[in-house]
Amino acid sequence: MEKILDVKDLHVTFSTYGGTVQAVRGVNFHLNKGETLAIVGESGCGKSVTSNAIMRLIPNPPGKIADGKIMFKGKDLTKVSEKKMRSIRGVDISMIFQDPMTALNPTLTIGTQLMEGLRQHQQVSREKAKKRALEMMDLVGIPNPEERLKQYPHQFSGGMRQRIVIAIALICEPELLIADEPTTALDVTIQAQILELFEKIQDITGVSIILITHDLGVVAKIADRIAVMYAGKIVETGTKRDIFYNPEHPYTKGLLKSVPRLDVQGEKLIPIDGTPPDLFSPPKGCPFAPRCPFAMEVCNKMYPDAVELNESHQVNCWLQDERGKKLLAMKATN
Ligand code: SF4
Ligand code: MG
Repeated sequence: MEKILDVKDLHVTFSTYGGTVQAVRGVNFHLNKGETLAIVGESGCGKSVTSNAIMRLIPNPPGKIADGKIMFKGKDLTKVSEKKMRSIRGVDISMIFQDPMTALNPTLTIGTQLMEGLRQHQQVSREKAKKRALEMMDLVGIPNPEERLKQYPHQFSGGMRQRIVIAIALICEPELLIADEPTTALDVTIQAQILELFEKIQDITGVSIILITHDLGVVAKIADRIAVMYAGKIVETGTKRDIFYNPEHPYTKGLLKSVPRLDVQGEKLIPIDGTPPDLFSPPKGCPFAPRCPFAMEVCNKMYPDAVELNESHQVNCWLQDERGKKLLAMKATN
């Protein structure tokens, strides 16, 4: 499979008066062409920072990409000039955010906003731009596009506004779409419709998608692969099957247990005790150790390497590491 994005050992830090926050600490993952990768984790785990780093939208100062590579179609995005990056954003890589209202300009018509993106990056006539805007409105399922183009954001419902934001993000036909909590601000029935829209768009355009979310229900619906993030690190990666049916990291297991299941009546949600570590001085070892029921001595001392469970499934946990297993066996016989 062709990789469209390959993130290697990414570190992102933020300088504050209180010290340096290590928001992303050596993250590795890749995205294949035409697939949807979900990055999941609690708020503050570094998932949004990771996606902003790919877009080079980390405000510097106080933030910076301290180390690592972001290979997009063979080019390292951490190395390209800001000017070059401006020509990549919105054209090769687009991003949509949680709240569609903040992404839209309330004083401009939808038509103007759709055509603006296109005309900024491509030399197209007004007629061509309008034709393309109408096609995009149709693609994202907005009825009466001719009339609707002349209207302003406040004349649309929340769900319709998110459809417009998606249309704007896709009008230049990007190869990568990053969606940061795209359905969180919407009510449940609209959420389902927007997720279906992502699937439809991917079928039609072949766009590769990174979906940032804390919602495992969303992930179950549209992700092909999943990366679970905790305290600035990816702790487990796998296909949807690997993660939902054979989770191995205690944090992933905890996350899955804390989600209500529609197929089991009256099941209780089990929250994970404790809170994530302070990223001003992250622990040397496994950051989940203070909350992990299986933590061993080695967990506090050293961060476990990634262990390959099968060709799609990797986990960073001493329980899966041969050395960790030996320690466990020793403990059991002592
Ligand atoms: Fe728990 Fe240790 Fe695995 Fe971390 S490495 S998740 S503390 S068992
Ligand atoms: Mg976020």
